[in-house]
Amino acid sequence: MSDTTQAMATRIDGKAAAEALRARIATEAARLTARHGTIAGLAVVLVGEDPASQVYVRNKAAATRAAGLASFEHRLPATTTEAELLALVASLNRDPDIDGILVQLPLPAGISAAAVTAAIDPAKDVDGFHPVNAGRLWGDGGGLVPCTPQGCMILLRGARDRLAGANAVVLGRSQIVGKPMAALLLGADCTVTVAHSRSRDLPALCRSADILVAAVGRPEMVRGDWIRPGATVIDVGINRVATADGRSRLVGDVAYAEAATVAGAITPVPGGVGPMTIACLLRNTLIAAARRRGWSEPDL
Ligand code: NDP
Repeated sequence: MSDTTQAMATRIDGKAAAEALRARIATEAARLTARHGTIAGLAVVLVGEDPASQVYVRNKAAATRAAGLASFEHRLPATTTEAELLALVASLNRDPDIDGILVQLPLPAGISAAAVTAAIDPAKDVDGFHPVNAGRLWGDGGGLVPCTPQGCMILLRGARDRLAGANAVVLGRSQIVGKPMAALLLGADCTVTVAHSRSRDLPALCRSADILVAAVGRPEMVRGDWIRPGATVIDVGINRVATADGRSRLVGDVAYAEAATVAGAITPVPGGVGPMTIACLLRNTLIAAARRRGWSEPDL
């Protein structure tokens, strides 16, 4: 009789990891507030009425308050000019109560996201998108790290004994996920390959990966037979797809059910990388506050 039972990958629980991180942030925030008598503050700026962005901003503000940090929300109409937005960013840069500034993307047509990102004080750039922070990530470090890749690293460190020497393949080379992810993995002594839409033979590249990070925005593109047995798979993708009953559901960039029969550990969607992103935003806010105000670096 043959044994057809397949070992399933460990499900990396990002929701639980994010809750644990948020609890540590709340403890550290309370400790710093008690010691210094002030509270770290995050300003979130939303321009226009984009429904998804409104939800993100609401969630970020609620999570900020829940962690014991001060939340400042600025909602501007879609008619706002770039000059008006830059003036707000300049005033937030000067405001001593603000430790972190996040301008929710995408911005309405006519406003340059690059110009706005570059106008944020790098010391308050909790998204980690400012060119100074991007450069520090590839250099000696010490800057603020983009939240989603940082969250992926925390999940990876929890899932694997060792990162050093592992072959890591990052699918996607965006400024906000793929490139910073590659820099962090390199910093953790992985051997890193970055693949993109022009890469050849993605399945073979992926099969070389001990660590596979998928951030392409293509629903379930990565199939089970792309995965090296025992690999750790981090699925950053968030894709809404229609279901047969006319509703919709979220799926990642990895075909989870197939991949889970081959991988050693894998993040689900939802409940994997997603919850870590906001937790890492709060982490960055506290780190930025400590550096700016000369407090001891929080243990996060
Ligand atoms: P982008 O669209 O900015 O980048 C996608 C990248 O994937 C590009 O580098 C592109 O290559 C590459 N790519 C696209 N199609 C293919 C393909 N068929 N084969 C190989 N490479 C391909 O996306 P983001 O990086 O912003 O986001 C990626 C995914 O992660 C999305 O699903 C997004 O929703 C999700 N996301 C999730 C977050 C979270 O909190 N969990 C946060 C941010 C993003 P090229 O450069 O050649 O065009």
